Amino acid sequence: MTHNPHHHPGTDLLLAYAAGTLSEAPSLLVATHLALCPRCRAEVAGMEAIGGALLSDADPGTPVSAGLLSNVLARLDGPPLAEAPRRRSMAPGPTPVLPEPLRSYIGGDIDRVRWRRTIPGLHEADISCSGGSVRMMRIRPGMGMPQHTHHGDEFTLVLQGGFTDASGHFLRGDFAATDPSVDHRPVADEDGDCICLAFTDAPLRLTGRFMRWLNPFMRA
Ligand SMILES: [Zn+2]
Repeated sequence: MTHNPHHHPGTDLLLAYAAGTLSEAPSLLVATHLALCPRCRAEVAGMEAIGGALLSDADPGTPVSAGLLSNVLARLDGPPLAEAPRRRSMAPGPTPVLPEPLRSYIGGDIDRVRWRRTIPGLHEADISCSGGSVRMMRIRPGMGMPQHTHHGDEFTLVLQGGFTDASGHFLRGDFAATDPSVDHRPVADEDGDCICLAFTDAPLRLTGRFMRWLNPFMRA
C-alpha cells in the first residue's frame, strides 16, 4: 500500500540537506522521508540542480550575492521542476517496512531491530549517528506518549501505523517537526503498533504530572 506523505520537512531543512550542511542524525530522518516521498525527492533534486549550476557559473572567490540567493529561493517556491514517476508495483514479495538508507543502519528490515522496553507500551532502539540522538520507537496502539518538552529540534518520521497530535494525523512517510516551545502529546492510532524514527538534538524532558519520576529511566 503506497501512501504519499502529507507532512513534509520545511524548505530550510531540505535546503540544508541538499547543500550537505546537515549533520548525520537529522540527515538520516530527511533521507528516509525522501525515500517515501516523491514530492520532496523532486524538490531536493531541483535544489541540487540549481546549486550545481550556481557553483559552475560562480567565479571562484566571488561571494554569492544576496540577490542570487533570493533568486534561488524564488525558484524553489515555484512548481516542482520534475514530477517523479508513479511507482509501479513490480517487486515480488512484500515491500520492506524500512527503506534505505535506514535499512543499512539497522542491518536489515524491521525484524532486525533490537527493541528494549522503555516504559509500558513503548519500545525503543537507538541508532548510532553523529550530530544528535536517533532512535526507533514502537508505540502500542492507542497509547498516548508521555508529555514532554525539549530544548532543540525534534523530528519524527512515521514508518508504520500512525499517530495524531495537535497539528494533525501522521501516517507512513509523514514528517513531523516539533517546535521546542510546544508541549505536545501524540497518541498512536488504534489499528496497530505505531513505528517511528525520531531525532532529537537535545535530551527530552518529561513534563506530565505522573512522569516526573520516570525521568531517570528515560534515556536522552
Ligand atoms: Zn515530503
